[in-house]
Amino acid sequence: MTTQTKRDYYDVLGLSRSATGDEIKKAYRKLAMKYHPDRNPNDPEAENKFKEATEAYEVLSNDQKRAMYDQYGHAGLGGSSFDPFAGAGFGGTDPFSTIFDAFFGQGARGGAGRATARQGADLRYDLTITFEEAVFGTQKEIQYRRLETCGTCGGVGAEPGTDPVRCPKCNGSGEMRIRAFLNMVTVTTCDQCDGRGTIIPMPCKECRGEGRVRNSVSRSLTVPAGVDDGMRIRVGAGGDVGPRNGPAGDLYVSLHVQPHELFVREGDRILLELPINVAQAALGTELEVPTLDGSEKLVIPAGTQDGAIFTLRGKGVQQVDAMGRSGRRGDQVVVARVRIPSKLTDEQRELFRKLGESMGADQLGHKESSIWSKIFGRS
Ligand SMILES: [Zn+2]
Ligand SMILES: [Zn+2]
Repeated sequence: MTTQTKRDYYDVLGLSRSATGDEIKKAYRKLAMKYHPDRNPNDPEAENKFKEATEAYEVLSNDQKRAMYDQYGHAGLGGSSFDPFAGAGFGGTDPFSTIFDAFFGQGARGGAGRATARQGADLRYDLTITFEEAVFGTQKEIQYRRLETCGTCGGVGAEPGTDPVRCPKCNGSGEMRIRAFLNMVTVTTCDQCDGRGTIIPMPCKECRGEGRVRNSVSRSLTVPAGVDDGMRIRVGAGGDVGPRNGPAGDLYVSLHVQPHELFVREGDRILLELPINVAQAALGTELEVPTLDGSEKLVIPAGTQDGAIFTLRGKGVQQVDAMGRSGRRGDQVVVARVRIPSKLTDEQRELFRKLGESMGADQLGHKESSIWSKIFGRS
C-alpha cells in the first residue's frame, strides 16, 4: 500500500515554487552528490533521500510535468511508481481516480478513498501601471473579491451550535465497496458525503454549507523594478480558499504597462529618437537628452548622419528575473534623426543657396559614395 504522504517536491529540493530550471538542476546535483548510494553504502536513509530527490527532479525538470504538479500536486502526476494492484480491495489510494478528482472536482465518480480538502480557484487581477512604475518598481494597493472562510461557521459549513454527523451511507469511511466480477472489490467515493465521511444536517445560513463567503479584500503588492507589459506576478494563496477549509488557490496579477510619450522600451533598453537639424548634424553640438533619471549631456559630433546611434550606458531598465529580483541596468539608445527644414525664412533660403553654391553640384559624381558600386560591385 502506498498511503504514506509524499513530501512536496519543492521542499525536497529546498526550493521555492518559482525556482528556475537552473536552480532546480543545481539543487538536485547537490543532493544527489550527498546521498548517492555509491557514497553511502548500506545506508537506507541516504538511499531514500536519493530516490526522493531524483523523483522530485524528474518532475520539476520537465516543464509539462512541473505544470501538472504545480496545479494539481502529486495527484496530477498519477504516481510514477504506481502499482495498479497495490491498493485494490484495501481502500488504498488509487492514483488514477485521484487524477480524475483533481480534474473534475469532487463530483467525479469512481474515485476511491476519502476526499482530501479541495483547493480553491486561482484568480486573475489586471493591473495597469505607468511606464516609470514598471521601470523603477512600485508598491500597489489592489482590491478584489475572493472567497474566504465563512466567519459564521469557521469554514465547517454547519450552522453554529450544530455539528456535522457521520455519513449514514458509508458509515463515515467516505467510500463504498462493491463486490464485482470474480469477487474483486471496487471502491468508489460515497456519493452522499462526496468522500468526506460526514454530512451536515443543518447547513450554515451564511454560506449555505459551503464554508466560504465572497469578500472584498485589499492587498499590498510589491511590483519589482524592471517588470514589463504582459508579465504576471503570482501571489501565493491569494486566490479563493477551498470549500470547507480547503487550501487557497493563487492570485495572478497580470501587468499592463502604459506607453511613454518619449521613450520606447525594448527589454532592458530604452530607445529615444532625437531630432536634430542639419546645422547641428553637420557642425556637431552638445545637447541635453531626456533619460529615465533626468536630462543627460550628449555630444553630437560633426558630420552626424541621420540614424546615427548613441548609447548611454546604464540608463536603461533593470533586468528582472523569474524570482522578481532586479539586476543590472540596460542602456539607453539614442537615435539621431536629422530633420530637413520644410519651411525656410528668406534669410535661411539665402544661406542654403550660398551653401549649395559652395558645395557644388558634384554629389552625383562621387564614385566612392555611389550606392550602385556597392550593389553591382563596380568601382
Ligand atoms: Zn458558514
Ligand atoms: Zn458517505
